[in-house]
Amino acid sequence: MAGPNLTPVDEALAHLLERAPVISEVERVGLSQSLGRVLAEDHVVPADLPPADNSAVDGYAVRLQDLAPGKAIPVATRIAAGQAPGQLAPGTAARIFTGSEIPQGADSVVMQERVRRTDTGIIIEAEVQQGQNIRRRGQDLAQGDLALPGGTLVRPQEMGLLGSMGIPTVPVLARLKVAILSTGDELVEPGQPLAAGQIYNSNRFTLMGLLADAGCDVVLSETLRDDRQATRETLRRAAGKADLVITSGGVSVGEEDHVRAVLEESGGLSLWRLAIKPGKPLAFGALDGTPVLGLPGNPASVLVTFLIVAMPLIRHCQGRRRVQVTGERIPSGFSVSSASVRREFVRARKEGAGPTQVISAYPNQSSGVLSSACWAEGLAVVPENTTVVPGDLLTYYSFVELLS
Ligand code: AMP
Ligand code: MG
Repeated sequence: MAGPNLTPVDEALAHLLERAPVISEVERVGLSQSLGRVLAEDHVVPADLPPADNSAVDGYAVRLQDLAPGKAIPVATRIAAGQAPGQLAPGTAARIFTGSEIPQGADSVVMQERVRRTDTGIIIEAEVQQGQNIRRRGQDLAQGDLALPGGTLVRPQEMGLLGSMGIPTVPVLARLKVAILSTGDELVEPGQPLAAGQIYNSNRFTLMGLLADAGCDVVLSETLRDDRQATRETLRRAAGKADLVITSGGVSVGEEDHVRAVLEESGGLSLWRLAIKPGKPLAFGALDGTPVLGLPGNPASVLVTFLIVAMPLIRHCQGRRRVQVTGERIPSGFSVSSASVRREFVRARKEGAGPTQVISAYPNQSSGVLSSACWAEGLAVVPENTTVVPGDLLTYYSFVELLS
């Protein structure tokens, strides 16, 4: 334990991943609809890729043994991309283009830039190596190779690879259904007038954006009053509808913090209070078998805890193979003079380039200052019990990586 009753971040993540179920529902989608989905099955290569030896350049296919310095070789055939190549007659060359299949008998391709064309044929003006400029059959993937394992997130390159294997539709895991509950009597929706004591609900929109980027379907988004009975009812309804419930606010120690209390009274609270900054009051549990992640209320804490705690959980529930991000190590451009038992995630960005590149921190790291996250491009990690001086190497995660 890091300090009184604070669970270290890594321990908390392990706890979450152990308890949250992976989605099991599978659906089949067209390849063009597969971006951002998770493959439900392994894809084994059905046939060699490419299916035949082909030319890497525009030029001439030749047989090495036919060549001699200054000798003109007649061009007997022309093989355009898409044509079946046939046989190369001995003593001749074939005009060939990038992607054209290599004719049988040819063992090298000479780039057209290395060739002089004469009335009697081509004269090759360069040294020719056996096999040069030939892309071998199966050089990308060979039949029977595991091209993409189940649990792979489909990015544009995976779409292309599946296409290259001739696969028109793919089985993918269902999109994760997530419910968002914002709690707080003070909250007013944008578009409504603001009375004394009230603030606009921002977490709802932060969470909607985060969940959209994470490839989740928001199936319910409601704002909850600070009321035990209403919290109980809405949480249960959300749990019945969603694969994962994410709440904001109401997980601290106040008597109006009903989310934690409802999880506790139902026996479902399994984790509360993390050694993380910002975002200490974070609760995790289950209601009727559905995981419930209670994020803090402060807007910057919501962003940070979502990226650091909810994203690995979501990737896990989505059935993805890789749930953690790696970040990069960059020298700090700032200092942290007092060590904390909590792991701190500093809203930061890279500044400068090459050997002078450093991580800059937004000056005001208050958990209520969301504009810090709009200035920032990522999070820098200050480890537990650590002070920092400029030049110290810190792990930095870009927002793009955190949401990938
Ligand atoms: P709580 O944990 O409910 O006490 O909330 C902590 C802080 O976050 C308070 O200042 C709340 O007003 C603020 N807060 C909670 N929910 C939201 C929200 N949805 N949008 C903006 N601020 C919020
Ligand atoms: Mg509240």
